[in-house]
Amino acid sequence: MSSMEKETDVVIIGAGISGCATAYNLAKRGTRVVVIDKQGVASEASGRTMAAIRQHGRHPAEMSLMREAIKIWGRLDEELGYETEFVQGGNLIVAEDDKHLERLAEYERLAKEAEVDSRLLTYEEVKKLVPSLEYPVRAALYSPGDGHCNPVKATVGFAKVAEERGARFYSNTVALGIETTAGRVSSVTTDKGEIKTPVVVNAAGIWANRVARMVGLYLPIKVTVSHVGETEPLPPLFKTFLWMPKLSCRQTASGTLRFGGGYLGVRDHYIGLDSFDNLGLWLPRLLRFRRFIRLVFNGSHLWREIRRDFPLGKKDRRLLEFAAGWEPRANNRYLSHQAQILWQRMPGLKGTKIMRTWAGLNGLTADLLPIMGRVEHPDGFFVVCFPSHGFAPGPVTGKLVSELILNGKTSIPIDAFNPMRFYKKKAVAMPSDVL
Ligand SMILES: Cc1cc2nc3c(=O)[nH]c(=O)nc-3n(C[C@H](O)[C@H](O)[C@H](O)COP(=O)(O)OP(=O)(O)OC[C@H]3O[C@@H](n4cnc5c(N)ncnc54)[C@H](O)[C@@H]3O)c2cc1C
Repeated sequence: MSSMEKETDVVIIGAGISGCATAYNLAKRGTRVVVIDKQGVASEASGRTMAAIRQHGRHPAEMSLMREAIKIWGRLDEELGYETEFVQGGNLIVAEDDKHLERLAEYERLAKEAEVDSRLLTYEEVKKLVPSLEYPVRAALYSPGDGHCNPVKATVGFAKVAEERGARFYSNTVALGIETTAGRVSSVTTDKGEIKTPVVVNAAGIWANRVARMVGLYLPIKVTVSHVGETEPLPPLFKTFLWMPKLSCRQTASGTLRFGGGYLGVRDHYIGLDSFDNLGLWLPRLLRFRRFIRLVFNGSHLWREIRRDFPLGKKDRRLLEFAAGWEPRANNRYLSHQAQILWQRMPGLKGTKIMRTWAGLNGLTADLLPIMGRVEHPDGFFVVCFPSHGFAPGPVTGKLVSELILNGKTSIPIDAFNPMRFYKKKAVAMPSDVL
């Protein structure tokens, strides 16, 4: 690795889709950018996601973002000169009973309001899109403009082109601290040295709160674990992304079926010291989400957390532990249950082999909305954190954050995502549902 810059215009902490797309948009406009990641490009959520790119089934505040994101996804391969395997095969939110149908009716109403093309289909119409589905679903909401892609290729594509335009990427480089001078960020301390900079972008994904704490800020994010399985390659079956109550599923470019939890699926939250953070804010939310969050007690996870906050060893080691996070294990029992659901819905595929499984960390913010924008203090500190369903908007979030840094304003309003909302208690709305 060449020696790291001592000084730059912008340091981005995190090389997921948010950080890489921001780097690309900044480098495109001639800004000097350094991106550091404690592991590497697409090593966390952006490399493990299901990569559904959908507009409908979202909070109204996210709709305009996603409308623009879809336009970018449609031309991204051409723009980057890089194959992302984006397939505009639509997104199907499936109802299996009347209660699910009520949810779909609400999603349809919100989509209409946001001028997103999203329509209810009958079972017969769904069968035309997914002939292998042999399960009498009640109905489905179909958004034909949506799709999916290869998330690693898309993230690497942004990084590669950003690099060609002058951005510098450093893997295995951990942000340990952020210095400020006269109320403005002035440098980032990493385990490989210090980089002087007037602008820092916190694109650290579910670790964004840890990075925010480096400048004395608090971002309410609870870390959860999701699990994904992938079958052996199959002949072409369907192009759409299937989002069912208990299962999500899509076919990749190589023919494998990638599957995970559904929209009523459960996410694991491992009990650690962070679980008790700001209980006043979180307890009502955790009670409300109780059907969707499984609390997991795991001794070694708790021990790692305790060691991190109450170190026995050297200070430096503690900081590295703090930044390194943890590698979740796939819950194969849960995934074989998911595979059973898949075979039930598509009996013709029974017997297909599961080739690999993995787990990824995602999370919930206190109001389920992303956190994106400039903070009030210190100057020069920006946040782009979309812990849940944040892969799809990645290309547009990168564009908007670059506009905010370079122009001081964004072409699409992002006020609803302001990081400072958590300091104005009333503004932190209780989410109505888990999306
Ligand atoms: C299993 C799973 C399925 C999902 N399905 C979907 C889906 O279908 N559609 C969708 O839109 N979204 C989905 N998501 C969510 C989506 O993947 C994330 O919202 C999105 O990828 C977040 O991107 P990011 O760049 O903000 O964060 P990440 O991709 O997590 O990147 C953050 C980076 O910051 C680095 N970092 C953290 N702290 C430091 C530090 N101190 N120093 C240096 N580097 C640091 C990390 O190593 C990491 O690489 C899913 C997530 C998971 C886990």
